[in-house]
Amino acid sequence: MVEFLSNYFRSVIALTPDDLLPSVYMCLNQLAPAYHSLELGIAETYLMKAVGQCTGRTVAQLRAAVAREGDLGTVAAHARATQRTMFQQPPLKARRVFNALKDIARMTGQASVNKKIAKIQSLFTACRNCEAKYLVRSLEGKLRIGLAEQSVLQALALAVTVTPPSPQGQLMLDASKGISPEQFKARVDANALLIKTTYCECPNYDAIIPVLLEHGVESLPKHCRLTPGVPLKPMLAHPARGVQELFDRFEGSQFTCEWKYDGERAQIHVPSTTDDGAPDYSRAAIFSRNQENNTSKYPDVLCRLPSLLKDNTRSCVLDCEVVAYDPVQKQILPFQILSTRKRKDANESDIKVQVCVFIFDLLYLNGEPLVTSPLRKRRELLSENFNYTPGEWERATHKDCTSAEEVQQELSEGVKGSCEGLMVKALEGPRSKYDIARRSHNWLKLKKDYLEGVGDTVDAVVIGGYYGKGKRAGTYGGFLLACRDDQGDEYQSLCKIGTGFTDELLQTLTAELKQHVIDAPRSYYRYDAGHIPDAWFSPALVWEVRCADLSLSPSHRAAQGLLDRDKGISLRFPRFVRSRDDKTPEQATTAQQIMQMYLNQDQVKNNTQTQQVED
Ligand code: ATP
Repeated sequence: MVEFLSNYFRSVIALTPDDLLPSVYMCLNQLAPAYHSLELGIAETYLMKAVGQCTGRTVAQLRAAVAREGDLGTVAAHARATQRTMFQQPPLKARRVFNALKDIARMTGQASVNKKIAKIQSLFTACRNCEAKYLVRSLEGKLRIGLAEQSVLQALALAVTVTPPSPQGQLMLDASKGISPEQFKARVDANALLIKTTYCECPNYDAIIPVLLEHGVESLPKHCRLTPGVPLKPMLAHPARGVQELFDRFEGSQFTCEWKYDGERAQIHVPSTTDDGAPDYSRAAIFSRNQENNTSKYPDVLCRLPSLLKDNTRSCVLDCEVVAYDPVQKQILPFQILSTRKRKDANESDIKVQVCVFIFDLLYLNGEPLVTSPLRKRRELLSENFNYTPGEWERATHKDCTSAEEVQQELSEGVKGSCEGLMVKALEGPRSKYDIARRSHNWLKLKKDYLEGVGDTVDAVVIGGYYGKGKRAGTYGGFLLACRDDQGDEYQSLCKIGTGFTDELLQTLTAELKQHVIDAPRSYYRYDAGHIPDAWFSPALVWEVRCADLSLSPSHRAAQGLLDRDKGISLRFPRFVRSRDDKTPEQATTAQQIMQMYLNQDQVKNNTQTQQVED
């Protein structure tokens, strides 16, 4: 796939370089960087209306066909192929489609619906061959071509190695000629590293692609650097199952234990007015774990920023956790309280839930990126350049532990202090740099319940609902959950869940799920006939669930084929923990992670498990 895509990119570079940016975005089903909040995801009903009007079919007919096929894209392509048109329209070009998609995403308000439909129709009637399928899927926001972002970046690296772009027009159409396969591979690897590292520091194709075309791949680090205002993909942690694992993983190198606060991740960016000017608070921004712009959610935090920066601190990027806080009792409050805050456009005077920001990392200071500096250095800079105020701006509590007893002690302190557990991080050496965008073994999370349970909780996608009975009549009483396979193309059933919900919560969730009900399962759902729910949902909601353990299952499909040809893995005694509104279905736990969690269980490790088979 990478080679195939890179050949396409090469022809774009050689023939119509202005199509490269739209092409990259469209392969990723994106329109702009996440923090621009410009997204597709047109409701199925509108798409059916548009397709129906163009092809002389009723919405009911299309709906029935989708129920059979499980995919509106396939149904739309079929309808388009059998449709007769008087005039053949000119073929669709990448730029035209991309600009139209952007226009559609920008249209808002009730009156925009008909305009959107008209725009979709103008594209749809020009589709040839299989284009209608992918156009409709793009509009739905579910392209599903099995291409992860890393593969697109790899294809780009391969393309610019073979066909290096040249602003002067002297294109080399095949630079792989005349060098040995080893030399060629080394060049591709070097370019891939440059492109991927640049993308980590500056996740913005609008900035990267023009530089790539104009100045070549080598100049990316010079032109596309970490910049306040452009959110980085955050570093994430791996779960550790016990204190001993920390010592095994860090192999004698020094590590630190920080409290793991239970709130919402916040990347706070403060640019300066000019390169060495004063901080520009009017352009300060707060980004979520997914690079969404959360600035309007936290006007209170923004207001306090000037008190945080010392006099000679001009610009910075801070990695923090925002936690609900009771200023009277001077106490951290549970995550559930934080989640009651307004998500957007909060008015400072209306804010009821106060927050304290716990800062744990510094990624940029006074014009300099710090992601490759050791954590110990970044911490020193955090101490020297910022003022802390209890209950408003605090440093994450930490202790540099050297013995298992110390770690145990710190874990109990953290839990007493209303934290989930510890984040354990390498302090020095190459392992202590900030691994942008990576779930890294250089950060380990140790939660109190890992010590007893199976390790981490699972973030699963809700794909079906079972009507409640008795006290739960009128709402769903249980749900079918799925994980996603590693290519992100399938949702594989993982367990049925009916525990951990209050009746009130079930009502809220039932109302929330209403808008995601679909007539039939998607073609990419994998489940057993014995688990067919009363209602199917499109993949939209992600729930965090805890379980007693994981077992091989003849009926659930998670990770089927990875460990056993016929059996999947399922969660035993699953329990709802909370909704993960900050995660998209694409960020749910993967089949590979489920398999790893299964294998990490002591019973499986020690091979003493009599393979349990659940219902
Ligand atoms: P979960 O939050 O369920 O553990 P996750 O996938 O959101 O999972 P992880 O990498 O597993 O993210 O855990 C790290 C999260 O913990 C961070 O995203 C951050 O929000 C939070 N956190 C709280 N305290 C710290 C800290 N001291 N250092 C790093 N992250 C912290």
